[in-house]
Amino acid sequence: MNSERNEMVRLIQAYGVRDEKIIEAMRKVRRHVFIPEGQSGMLDPYGDHPCPIGNGQTISQPFIVAYMSEKINPKPGEKILEIGTGSGYQAAVLAELGADVYSIEIIPDLANHAKKILAQEKYKVHILEADGYKGWPEMAPFDVIIVTCAPEEIPFELIQQLNEGGRMILPVGSPLNQKLVVLYKSGGKVKLENDLAVRFVPMVHRQS
Ligand code: SAH
Repeated sequence: MNSERNEMVRLIQAYGVRDEKIIEAMRKVRRHVFIPEGQSGMLDPYGDHPCPIGNGQTISQPFIVAYMSEKINPKPGEKILEIGTGSGYQAAVLAELGADVYSIEIIPDLANHAKKILAQEKYKVHILEADGYKGWPEMAPFDVIIVTCAPEEIPFELIQQLNEGGRMILPVGSPLNQKLVVLYKSGGKVKLENDLAVRFVPMVHRQS
């Protein structure tokens, strides 16, 4: 698996990710173990594409995981909120970078799976099974917020839970027209930057 991970990383570098810390973390995290049994074997876990993880969801393409991580540049000890735990892989990469990771997943099966694998791989990530539109107010503010499912608009609660000097990255838009947005909060003001066109699963609302 090491040689497959080296090849995956070589491609990520060829696509333009330069930060050595990110490259090292991507080389270290065992991506294949995050793909639930029953889903594995369908697609190469180290290939340059998303892979199914059950419940109609996918683990993001390795390049996108590296790209988003590089954009938000997490520093050791920073508090990060992820919305859309999915398999737990992105959370593991952030934990590998030394961040204190909080992650919310709306589908109970996936939250449980991620909890199990992250513990098995010795990553201390706090997982909450809940609707990410509300964020995690008890643990706010966060230095970084990363959303790995796409809302139609930037959720206001998440902006509120971002620390002064914090940054947030998220895909925004409909399934056929989405782009990554990077948001910076500084001096009480919010600055937005549009970034790559992407394709994430929609951020859904919990029926209650
Ligand atoms: N970061 C994941 C990929 C996630 S796919 C990984 O590394 O594997 C997107 C995930 O967002 C799915 O698991 C989906 O169930 C979840 N999701 C969708 N809407 C959500 C919401 N409102 N709150 C929390 N999670 C949500």
